[in-house]
Amino acid sequence: MTTGLNAAHVGKQFRTRTGTVEALSDVSLSTAAGSFTALIGPSGCGKSTLLRMFAGLESPTGGSLSVLGISPERVQAQHEIGVAFQDSALLPWRSVEANIALPLQVAGRRTDKKAIADLIALTGLGGFEHARPSQLSGGMRQRVAIARSLVLEPKVLLLDEPFGALDDMTRQSMNLELQRIWTERPTTTLLVTHSLDEAVMLSDRVFVMAARPGRIVEEVPIDLDRPRSAAQQRSPEFHSLRDRLSDLLFAARSGAAA
Ligand code: ADP
Ligand code: MG
Repeated sequence: MTTGLNAAHVGKQFRTRTGTVEALSDVSLSTAAGSFTALIGPSGCGKSTLLRMFAGLESPTGGSLSVLGISPERVQAQHEIGVAFQDSALLPWRSVEANIALPLQVAGRRTDKKAIADLIALTGLGGFEHARPSQLSGGMRQRVAIARSLVLEPKVLLLDEPFGALDDMTRQSMNLELQRIWTERPTTTLLVTHSLDEAVMLSDRVFVMAARPGRIVEEVPIDLDRPRSAAQQRSPEFHSLRDRLSDLLFAARSGAAA
């Protein structure tokens, strides 16, 4: 197995005016290159911190991380990582099209008009190419952020609750689209999500975290056939995996040993 994402005994402490926050403690995980992994857990358990470390945006205070066998900073410098956060973080003065094209400019690559048009179609933003972020709904801004994360065809995709602001229908169709994109070009993906359906639908493996200190309490393989359909979400296998995650999450929330 070629390693995709690896964390070895990662710890992270934040120093604040009121003391030290232990955001992560002894987090170890390993995923296969090209696999899809979800991270679930109660608010404040360090999901975003871990994802930001894989993106090379934050460094651990203990342990180490690697992405495709090298340091996150190096993978980031090679423009191999696509990221989308819950807060879409678009540039307000740029159009939809220009926001999506931004990573190409940062990477010094040619702006591929066709690729951008394809991403706009894919994310259902047709007709809004020239709109500014302020003219879009929250869900649409989120879709721009997702299109932007894909524009470099990254080897690694880090998504922090990217569909959180979307209504259920749009979320379902984005899930199916993400699965399709991912099937076409297996990309080492880490998705932070609050939706258990989304985690089961998309993942090869789900890591469940607990808070104070942030840590991993369980690793759940999702052995469902692919591609997964909306109909499959009604199967007993799907339901039992979802229930298992729900129980683990409940235990993690209430602080019970999982
Ligand atoms: P999650 O994404 O699971 O909700 P976070 O990774 O955002 O959790 O945060 C984990 C913990 O670390 C929380 O207690 C949070 O308040 C704290 N934290 C995160 N970022 C910072 C920071 N820059 N400074 C201080 N504390 C932080
Ligand atoms: Mg978060």
